[in-house]
Amino acid sequence: MKIKVLFLLPFACGVLNVSAQNKVKSTATATSLPRPKLVVGIVVDQMRWDYLYRFYDRYSSGGFKRMLNEGFTCENTNIDYIPTVTAIGHSTIYTGSVPALHGIAGNDFIVQATGKSMYCAEDSTVQTVGSTSDAGRMSPRNLLVTTVTDELKLATNFRSKVIGIALKDRGGILPAGHTADAAYWFDDKNGSWISSTYYMKDLPKWVKDFNAKNLPEAYLKKEWQSAFPLNTYLQTLPVESRYEGKLGGATITGFPIKTSELYKGNVGLIRTTPSGNTLTLDLAKAAIANEQMGNGVVTDFLAVSLSSTDYVGHLFGVNSVEVEDTYLHLDKDLAEFFNYLDDKVGKGKYTVFLSADHGAAHNTGFLRAHNVPSDVWDTGAAMTAMNKMLLEKYKSDRIVRSLTNYQVNLNYTVITKAGLDEDAIKADRIKFLEKQPGVAFAVDMQRVATATVPEALRTRIINGYNRELSGVIQIVLQPGWLSGRRVGQNSPTGTGHGTWNPYDTHIPLVFMGWGVKHGSTARATSMTDIAPTLAALLHIQAPNGSIGEVISEVIK
Ligand SMILES: [Zn+2]
Repeated sequence: MKIKVLFLLPFACGVLNVSAQNKVKSTATATSLPRPKLVVGIVVDQMRWDYLYRFYDRYSSGGFKRMLNEGFTCENTNIDYIPTVTAIGHSTIYTGSVPALHGIAGNDFIVQATGKSMYCAEDSTVQTVGSTSDAGRMSPRNLLVTTVTDELKLATNFRSKVIGIALKDRGGILPAGHTADAAYWFDDKNGSWISSTYYMKDLPKWVKDFNAKNLPEAYLKKEWQSAFPLNTYLQTLPVESRYEGKLGGATITGFPIKTSELYKGNVGLIRTTPSGNTLTLDLAKAAIANEQMGNGVVTDFLAVSLSSTDYVGHLFGVNSVEVEDTYLHLDKDLAEFFNYLDDKVGKGKYTVFLSADHGAAHNTGFLRAHNVPSDVWDTGAAMTAMNKMLLEKYKSDRIVRSLTNYQVNLNYTVITKAGLDEDAIKADRIKFLEKQPGVAFAVDMQRVATATVPEALRTRIINGYNRELSGVIQIVLQPGWLSGRRVGQNSPTGTGHGTWNPYDTHIPLVFMGWGVKHGSTARATSMTDIAPTLAALLHIQAPNGSIGEVISEVIK
């Protein structure tokens, strides 16, 4: 009896398969699987969740507000790893995975076996396309898992068109995945959009035509004008300018920012102005038009990242009129972009999602001036002190290779050569670090599970730790503290990010368009949930390293 079943089963399955295939074929035109014509991913670099509401009153009805009013917002989305930086954020949004698995352990990280510092998107086997500089020697090869864009390609036998666009190479390359048709990023040297031989031998004619228009220079010559009268801004106190950096050689802060005068052939200046985002969306529109994205028989995917918000945020800080103005400009640009999509692809025929790769902290000096505990932790000084002590104790120099991404990277060449005990060095350094002002915890990466740290931290450390690419000790600073260096009594201007704290990890997540319900949830969701949710919406497999869950409330 048993034998009979075993024998019959494969045969029966075969019959079922044939009839199922016939059924699909015969009804394919009548009941083909519904999918959007185009998915547009928008990552706003350094956008804190609260920016959706901080500037809400002056957002137009067509930009951020349109997403909230028509779409579905996940109000409590957090990043589930540290360090919270750009390359990891983009990788995680599109893979549903974390550094422990996806291999992007920082913007820069150290290959522990060799001690070699690696940039997330570097690839020495490829060449720049569209410039004579090395800025194009990039690819997604360091990413070890598939993206949702890869899965779409695999699901449609590569008929879907996938393109990534961002001023920052990593913002375009990592989201577009391994199988992308193209990724484009900005080269400061020749002021144009470039790519690499990973994708193509030559830029398409439409990209060359776009570059020939020399839009960056035209934007810079138009000055950085405020989007609204300055007296309507939240951030107008001139006294706050002492916490702000100055743009490209400017001697004063405030509007109008004379980019025409600051621009002396340095086209890269556009990155730190709202026009950098405008330029990015200009190219996105050109890609949709010229590549006929959203007009084919299968779903296409355009992955856009808006980098200028990050450059402006770093230079001027969270509480600056420049950041406020950058979001007001971006809101107008988004409204225009959504209108363009309505026109070219059709309202209700495309799906958009908007999120961020990380948030940002308040300026430490600004917080201190308002009695909020905050300061900077001098990473360079800490490393010098650690190496000096280790030299005295072990008679070996430079045992600590670097403090990258709030992690201690040890120099294994020195440790092996001198026959030193790595565990003893680690225990010793943890004791030292935990005594430093501003350090909340120093955690041995191989013993995170038993470390006395809050659970939320433990999970983020484990998710962020890649055995081959991360340091051996995770440094966690006190809330409000940031890596940096004081100049005399003055705090550094501007701001940064990279920590586990809500200001760095609480990100916006809004979906709109085809297949998306209208509504919101305050349920805790994670950055790793974005890719599996998109996969569910598209009826494709989740990326192969995804640890996230589908946010089912989003889907109609
Ligand atoms: Zn940044």
